[in-house]
Amino acid sequence: MGEIDRLGAAPWEYAPAPESRELVRFRERYGLAIGGEMVDPRSGTWFTSVSPATEEPLAEVAQAGPEDVDAAVGAAREAFEDGWSTMRSAERAKVIFRIARILQERSRELAVAESLDGGKPIKESRDVDLPLAAAHFFYYAGWADKLEYAFPNRRPAPHGVAAQIIPWNFPLLMLAWKVAPALACGNAVVLKPAETTPLTALLFADVCRQAEVPPGVVNIVTGDGSTGAALVDHAGIDKVAFTGSTEVGKEIQRRLAGRGVPLTLELGGKAANIVFDDCALDQAVEGIVNGIWFNQGHVCCAGSRLLVQESIAEQLIGKLKRRMGTLRVGDPLDKNTDIGAINSRQQLERIRELVASGQEEGAEIFQPACALPERGFWYPPTVFTSVAQSYRIAQEEIFGPVLSVLTFRTPEEAVEKANNTAYGLSAGVWTEKGSRILWMAERLKAGVVWANTYNRFDPASPFGGYKESGFGREGGRHGLEAYLRFDGGRRG
Ligand code: NDP
Repeated sequence: MGEIDRLGAAPWEYAPAPESRELVRFRERYGLAIGGEMVDPRSGTWFTSVSPATEEPLAEVAQAGPEDVDAAVGAAREAFEDGWSTMRSAERAKVIFRIARILQERSRELAVAESLDGGKPIKESRDVDLPLAAAHFFYYAGWADKLEYAFPNRRPAPHGVAAQIIPWNFPLLMLAWKVAPALACGNAVVLKPAETTPLTALLFADVCRQAEVPPGVVNIVTGDGSTGAALVDHAGIDKVAFTGSTEVGKEIQRRLAGRGVPLTLELGGKAANIVFDDCALDQAVEGIVNGIWFNQGHVCCAGSRLLVQESIAEQLIGKLKRRMGTLRVGDPLDKNTDIGAINSRQQLERIRELVASGQEEGAEIFQPACALPERGFWYPPTVFTSVAQSYRIAQEEIFGPVLSVLTFRTPEEAVEKANNTAYGLSAGVWTEKGSRILWMAERLKAGVVWANTYNRFDPASPFGGYKESGFGREGGRHGLEAYLRFDGGRRG
């Protein structure tokens, strides 16, 4: 660049490449999707969903109260009993297949909506969230008429009404992970999206209308945590599936205790991304970048603890810092953007608080020079070195673009440090040796272990954790189990 500048030519910079904002037109106000219609909330209250990148209001959204939740559960029960659970399974498969096709057809619109409401870069919502959401519906459409083969001699039957509560980091994708298997198994659903990202779930209600999903099979109730709590407390639900923080997961478990309602929990993580000295170093650097800066680090399985073998630590961290300088932070709708906006002011404050604790406890911070937009919620890519295992930044889920680096000398020490966490969702291993990958994978206490890659998802592959990362699996044949009972459908 310096050479070109001296010659007086234009500097080598990315030109703006904005995706069209016009691809999606939100209504001024959204009601609740209950019984196949958009209805005003009985609570009479609304809130505003804003774009975290600009703080611009996008739409008014209904705050569902207990009466609204009751109406949604009632509509789901009626739809379940009045045809959906007894429909020929091949017909049910067709409905789910149609949802998948429509998600593909409307993917550009939905990707723009996701980036506007949640702040994630358009290249991620376009290339990851939307294709994967459609893939989940395609995949589970395929299982809908094969449940007897998936679970031979176990007489699989749906639970009934599934209550599903999802977070704000992958709004449409988490919806797909929950709704697709539930419908394939013949359940009706009431889904509560997160307060800060309700819009794609509301657009999904329109996708269901287009796909001719029978009214009441999919109901969307928007609102804050109190709406989620009212849903969990409702006596008419037969199953709860939750993705979000460990704290709320534990609260839900307490509320369900003794009620006989089956529960799956997909909670937080503090994954170790482990780099050995024999790995392909540049490839590992890309994997580290993807592991922690994908989706601003708002990822439950983010590789937020980098464990690097001491002999290559200096070289690797040097390369990583150089690479960080090339990450583009800014407008989520720009196709060149690598890191978008932080999802909410509240989350930004949480990140700032944890970063401050890292500095106070003695870790060394590095942030590349980068200009952040004036409005909206932003945080630069950040790396901490000289981190001790006891520091909060090595223990707590930051859920932001912040990486903590620790070192190790031997594979045994790497395993020991990787497992030294209350969580157990995912891990990464970078090495040229296949035998070492297997040795590590056997010992790492994590639901998913990626080798020489990171953040790879496939609807055929089960995902989930153990310890404080939750229980139950989503994806694959395992993901069906959460939505089935195996007593021939008799109700206890
Ligand atoms: P929450 O766990 O609070 O939110 C997840 C979902 O649960 C949202 O739909 C939320 O509604 C709802 N909810 C909140 N309280 C209750 C309740 N008592 N009963 C039923 N549902 C409830 O996560 P936050 O958004 O508060 O994020 C806090 C932290 O959690 C993050 O900093 C991050 O560390 C972690 N997190 C982890 C996720 C993961 O995938 N593992 C995802 C999201 C967050 P509402 O949005 O209206 O509050």
